[in-house]
Formats: sequence, structure tokens, C-alpha cells
Amino acid sequence: MLIVHCPVCGVEGDETDFHCGGQAHIRRPASHDPHNITDEEQRDYLFMRFNPKGLHFERWRCDRGCGKWFHAARDTASLEFKGYYGITELPPKELQAQATGQWAEFFKARAAETGATRPAKKAAKTSAKKASKK
Ligand SMILES: [Zn+2]
Repeated sequence: MLIVHCPVCGVEGDETDFHCGGQAHIRRPASHDPHNITDEEQRDYLFMRFNPKGLHFERWRCDRGCGKWFHAARDTASLEFKGYYGITELPPKELQAQATGQWAEFFKARAAETGATRPAKKAAKTSAKKASKK
């Protein structure tokens, strides 16, 4: 049995109180026009997932608590959760440093994109951002 902790509301329970949403940090291809997306990009977005033995990053939903989604870092060999963080954030630096294989490459690429390896800070939301989220 997995014991999961919700970082949003603080509730703790077994995995039946939560819903695993699969791999974390999956991004849609950058274009909304399907003619600008290659078959490989669409295939990767829909089907290609990391399957590491060891540290893995997943999305989880707090079904019987607050209902919010969050990210969790879990060791797939020991089933131990190593940490939790917000749904819009990257993992804490120490968890990124423990990542191996595809995850290490992923965080390295993200750091190159953003110019930083630290997790995203909660930015002050502008009214324009709030309107576009609906
Ligand atoms: Zn919760």
C-alpha cells in the first residue's frame, strides 16, 4: 500500500484516496494548428512515457481531500515517495539532482530553456493571466 501525502491540504491516505494521473511534466506540442505538428510530436505527446526503475515524477490528485492535482516524486523500486510539489512547479533542486536517465536529461533541457534549475516560484498573477486560464 502506498501512503500519499497531499501538499495542498495536508491530508494523508493510501493510494485509493488519491488518483494517479501518470507521468508529470508532459507538455502539449507548441502549436494549436494540427498542420504544424509532426506525427512524431503528436505520438510522443500521447503515448511516449518514461518508465524508470528508481526516481519517477508523477501527477496525483487528492480525490477525497481538496480535489487538487499535485506532483510527487516516487521511487518505483521501493515505492517510497521522495517528495511532493505544486502542479505548476518543477521538483525541488535536490530531487532534480537525484534524477537519472531520461528524467536527468529532461531537467537539464528544462534548465537550458529557462536558464535556471530551481523550481518555479509562484509568480504574482496578472489579471490577463487569470482571464486566459478559464
Ligand atoms: Zn488535498
